[in-house]
Amino acid sequence: MLGEGILKGLWETAKNFTGSYVSADRLTTVEYPEQRIAPIEATRDFPFLVFDEENRDGGDPVWEAGLRCVACQICEKECPPKCIYIERSKDKKLDYLGKAQYYPARFDIDISVCMSCQICVEVCPFDAIKMDTEFELSTTDRFGGLLLDREQLAKPNEYYHKIHPAEAAGVDAHLAEEKVKADAKAKAAAEAKLAAEAKAAADAAAKATGEGA
Ligand code: SF4
Ligand code: SF4
Repeated sequence: MLGEGILKGLWETAKNFTGSYVSADRLTTVEYPEQRIAPIEATRDFPFLVFDEENRDGGDPVWEAGLRCVACQICEKECPPKCIYIERSKDKKLDYLGKAQYYPARFDIDISVCMSCQICVEVCPFDAIKMDTEFELSTTDRFGGLLLDREQLAKPNEYYHKIHPAEAAGVDAHLAEEKVKADAKAKAAAEAKLAAEAKAAADAAAKATGEGA
């Protein structure tokens, strides 16, 4: 029937309007900003950079030393509106696997341009950038105020767990698995090196004995 959808919509609105006087469940809005609805886990707006306090390579400040980002610049290249600006460090620091990696000396995101597509998150091989749920970011500074730098973007892994608990738990499990594999590989390499050194020493001793006879 022509207009059936409109009538259904109006009926739903009327039900909620009248029902809201007797049932709180019918209230579909709250009186913001005094009242707030907690964002659901899938909420996303702009990206932030995750740092791990326990994985930092000694340095300070904690947020800088613990950044997971290795400045590979994949997200910068893949960002459709090109609103990520990265400068790679000259030196390296150890990552959570104990591997020396570059880090971002500069990492800016212009959130006045960002379209919240999440592509940067999807392409990051290091789980270093995730989507935030913070939306109260308005400012009267139209240009500089919306260009967020490393320090403004850096947030601890605990924060990531708070806003996206299931997703963050999955990432932690994956990183722990990678760490176990890396430790096993390093142990096997160290044992192989020791065995090779022992064999070389035994060969040298056998050769010396042979020459002396
Ligand atoms: S969410 Fe999309 S637009 Fe925003 S920084 Fe990431 S890739 Fe760029
Ligand atoms: S956030 Fe991820 S993809 Fe972007 S530079 Fe850092 S490590 Fe690379």
